Amino acid sequence: METLSGSHCLVTGGAGFIGSHIADTLVDSNAVRVLDDLSSGSRDHLPDDAELIEGDVRDDETLAAAMEGVDVVFHEAAVVSVTASVEDPVRSHDVNATGGLAVLEAARREGARVVLASSAAIYGHPERVPIAETDPVGPTSPYGLQKLTLDRYAVQYHDLYGVETVPLRYFNVFGPRNVGGPYAGVIAVFVDQATRGVDITVDGDGTQTRDFVHVDDVVQANLRAATTDAVGEAYNVGRGESITIRELAELIRDVTGSDSDIVHTEPRPGDIDESCADVSRARDRLGYEPTVSLREGLAALVDDHGADD
Ligand code: UDP
Repeated sequence: METLSGSHCLVTGGAGFIGSHIADTLVDSNAVRVLDDLSSGSRDHLPDDAELIEGDVRDDETLAAAMEGVDVVFHEAAVVSVTASVEDPVRSHDVNATGGLAVLEAARREGARVVLASSAAIYGHPERVPIAETDPVGPTSPYGLQKLTLDRYAVQYHDLYGVETVPLRYFNVFGPRNVGGPYAGVIAVFVDQATRGVDITVDGDGTQTRDFVHVDDVVQANLRAATTDAVGEAYNVGRGESITIRELAELIRDVTGSDSDIVHTEPRPGDIDESCADVSRARDRLGYEPTVSLREGLAALVDDHGADD
């Protein structure tokens, strides 16, 4: 893989879960700046060699300062909670769609490439799995609609202005630094429940499926997107395999050696039944290859759990 080196990089949301892993990988051979308002990220996640600009992507002056001299932007800053987007669609739109557009516009001025976080949430209830990038979209939450808007703007910025953009449609990302808290995905919730020995709470009958991709593979996709010639189109970033949530609960109980009971609660309103990425486009054009299995990723996470990472 051609790796990015000697570049000036900006990671928005670089103190957050995915952004901080990207920043960690970049600092070895690039100058890394992070723009983060620390609303959900943490200073502790930042690599020592990264420069932090504490601020909001919606603030023009702050964004212009952060973008100065930058070759590649990794845009990960977002209000990542679907629930928060349902409760306050205007605020999350402002950050996720308008803030993302501001990053694209700043990149146009600066001549920078933009690799940005899109989401499987843009697909809503898929007509079939695995889902290809060309399949119909139909977001069911403001969050999904905002990510779709940004994903489409990114392609337009390439087509209209020649900006090198690469939207990456993340499926269910898991790994260190997504443990606990209001933004935690189901894996973080289940690992926390299993290690505390309390009930593992499966929403509904647990037959719904998800494609869990380890954050290391998401970083790999970002690095490949940073150097690819195949810009101006969106890529699914998943593992390309799915598991039911019931099986996930059992696997986590097994990996943690927990004696928690698995209990079923009310189904989550509007829950997506099936999700799985078709990653063949990313494989063919980016050379992306998922490397971390769910079991391996979980085992590492469990080792890590409780460590103040
Ligand atoms: N889920 C669950 N128990 C929990 C949290 C989540 O069974 O405590 C289920 C949830 O209903 C969904 C799946 O796990 O079917 C993935 O949820 P998550 O919020 O991680 O991601 P998303 O729904 O956005 O794919």
